[in-house]
Amino acid sequence: MTATAAPLDLLLLPSWLVPVEPAGVVLKAHGLGIRDGRIAFIGPREAALKLASKETRELPGMLLSPGLINAHGHAAMSLFRGMADDLPLMTWLEKHIWPAEAKWVDEAFVRDGTDLAIAEQLKGGITCFSDMYFFPKVASDCVHNSGMRAQIAIPILDFPIPGAASADEAIRQGIELFGDLKHHPRIKITFGPHAPYTVCDANLEKIRIIAEELDASIHMHVHETASEVQQAVDQTGERPLARLGRLGLLGPRFQAVHMTQISEDDLALLVESNTSIIHCPESNLKLASGFCPVERLWQAGINVAIGTDGAASNNDLDLLGETRTAAMLAKAVAGSATALDAHRALRMATLNGARAMGLESEIGSLEVGKAADMVAFDLSGLAQQPIYDPVSQLIYATGRDCVKHLWVAGKQLLDDRRLTRMNEPELVASAIEWGRRISGRNE
Ligand SMILES: [Zn+2]
Repeated sequence: MTATAAPLDLLLLPSWLVPVEPAGVVLKAHGLGIRDGRIAFIGPREAALKLASKETRELPGMLLSPGLINAHGHAAMSLFRGMADDLPLMTWLEKHIWPAEAKWVDEAFVRDGTDLAIAEQLKGGITCFSDMYFFPKVASDCVHNSGMRAQIAIPILDFPIPGAASADEAIRQGIELFGDLKHHPRIKITFGPHAPYTVCDANLEKIRIIAEELDASIHMHVHETASEVQQAVDQTGERPLARLGRLGLLGPRFQAVHMTQISEDDLALLVESNTSIIHCPESNLKLASGFCPVERLWQAGINVAIGTDGAASNNDLDLLGETRTAAMLAKAVAGSATALDAHRALRMATLNGARAMGLESEIGSLEVGKAADMVAFDLSGLAQQPIYDPVSQLIYATGRDCVKHLWVAGKQLLDDRRLTRMNEPELVASAIEWGRRISGRNE
């Protein structure tokens, strides 16, 4: 760096810096400098301290990593958290979630539910999330105002949904929103056909053509349960993933959420098409949907990211906890304690999510030139001692209550666990009020 370079806006000096790329590296006594919302410097502490900076912050006992990326969820469903638990997927959807959505979901619901989800995620170390829910324009307004980063998938189903009377109307709205937000620095619009069993071939073909024209991604629930696959095979003789392949949807722009059922043919199709998979272990566990074979996919070279799914089926948006579950579950499913080690688990929760969303050149790792999306975890508590490998401690011994500070594009959105742009007591009061209305309680 030359002496004439502009001063840094902020210099951070954590105890450990985990860039994620290169893989497996933990830097001690290093600093990270930010200028104009981007990472401008990573280097040894002595060199860092020689640089001019408008603000310097020591982060003793803290681990600085890329912000966590929650690659699948339904943000506004946070207002249905705990409304219907301990039920199989189709009963849960058909008897509880879909009727409640028909009755309650409007623009105000989506605004309040999305704000609640954004605040919960920021406090949990998440800097970027993927959303798939009704009134996507309202959700993008929430993301814009919050300072957070997100991928917003336009929900498309064959039947009418809140905010769109038909699949064609949903697609039209999606194209319009895509155009409006094409240059937004923090919001990416994608297309979200709900699932193979709710979207017909004709609509999937329309979505494929539009996504190709716009160079947009497609985000879809696929092979969530064994019965979904079995039903499709009984009715058509074809597995849903094979159908998506035949229709030309699979590819680097395609994000297949869940994938608990993977045959040898499915695996070959995923590898050949370079499709990303979004693994949602706790939702799959809670709905007894099945197990995504993460280690097998990883060994095959498939990009696997991780998501919490909606709070109605999880019941939290805790990606750090989700990552710990994923690391444990991968070992049980693979029958090998070496499956998905802590460093790879962190990579899955950061860079792999960025890659799934096509944002890997922008976020997902701490590298000079990338957006300054970062989280500082406080590892100074007794539950983390002693520290041999801070990444191991982060994944296996640390909860999201240890998230101390968080930045998106260099802007601090969480400072000493306090939200800087959102009013936490108001969000809590609003959620309580929605719960009261939805459950019909008057107390
Ligand atoms: Zn989902």
